[in-house]
Amino acid sequence: MSPEDIILKVPNQYEKAKESGDLLFFPSTVVRHREPEVDIEFQIRVCPALQKKPQQITTPERAEPENNTVSISGAGQTSGGKASDPFEPPYNGNLYIGELKDENFGDDYVVLLNKYSVVPGHFLLVSKENKSQSSPLLPPDLVQTYKILVAARKTGKKYFAFYNCGNFSGASQSHKHVQFLPIDEGEAGPPIERLARSTNLETPSKPFTISKLPYANHVFRFSSELQYEDEEGLERTLADAFLSLLDLVVSTIRHASDYPAGKPSYNVILTLEHIHLIPRRYETYKIPETVHEVNVNSLGFAGMLLVKSDEELERVKSHGIGKILKGVALESVHEVQVAGTTDDAVTLASSHM
Ligand code: AMP
Repeated sequence: MSPEDIILKVPNQYEKAKESGDLLFFPSTVVRHREPEVDIEFQIRVCPALQKKPQQITTPERAEPENNTVSISGAGQTSGGKASDPFEPPYNGNLYIGELKDENFGDDYVVLLNKYSVVPGHFLLVSKENKSQSSPLLPPDLVQTYKILVAARKTGKKYFAFYNCGNFSGASQSHKHVQFLPIDEGEAGPPIERLARSTNLETPSKPFTISKLPYANHVFRFSSELQYEDEEGLERTLADAFLSLLDLVVSTIRHASDYPAGKPSYNVILTLEHIHLIPRRYETYKIPETVHEVNVNSLGFAGMLLVKSDEELERVKSHGIGKILKGVALESVHEVQVAGTTDDAVTLASSHM
């Protein structure tokens, strides 16, 4: 199947899956909330129906989750309390969209609808081989993801992609998967994109940071010509950009003396224009003096948080989303990094992989 065919098939298949009961839809409303300190207009999704959703379950690589956690991503499945992998075949026919193969590397992918749908049209690009969600995005992952975004644009739709990497990133499934969410009519992208776009760059081909944000973030801007590149050109640009940002993520983590040993956790947000990597220290944020924990994944950093009640909405708003994001991320060491050398960053990265 081509990426265009994938995109074109999503709406009908979505309706079919919903009617069959294989896809569960959780209605929600979006509340806009501006926080001047971070200069983001957050889109907070209030979804009371999620209170009735089955408890979030983990897959083997992960620890048991806390109660009271929320995330825009959904739950996994279990059989008799034991975690199973929902992304292994046989695939549910109603959730199945199609398959993609990377021409250069031969990697195979399956595209599945998100079974637990809060936003209609949310789908996943899953590696057919069972790779780890703690492993970095590889060139074919990046190329196929970007090609889907380009295909969406060509067919008059807008999507962005995200990847929750590692144990503190908010991922609930350990089988490698990139997720795709449609962008609302009239929106340029997820809320964070406005900040990325408005950042003036002295050197466009270098990573940058959005310095208004109170946490470490590493961003790369693509040329507007990138979407017309062939697979080889895409691979070169995307892989170079991702690696340079990953070097910075690892270097940021290296500056956090209490960061646990092991693979780094980070969130990835990919649009046609930018790729953002945000290193993560914690998966959830406990709002002080309450029992409430907010589970944050890439979507929180994209500017889209999910809550399960109006009460929770008020709690999150009054505490401040910027503060919540800062609490689960790392402190920026951008000043030190721009003063450092690339060689230094590369060495740090390889020692953490
Ligand atoms: P994450 O929580 O970021 O790891 O994302 C996992 C995604 O997979 C979520 O969007 C889930 O709702 C979705 N999901 C969980 N189980 C299934 C399933 N059986 N089929 C399709 N999607 C699923």
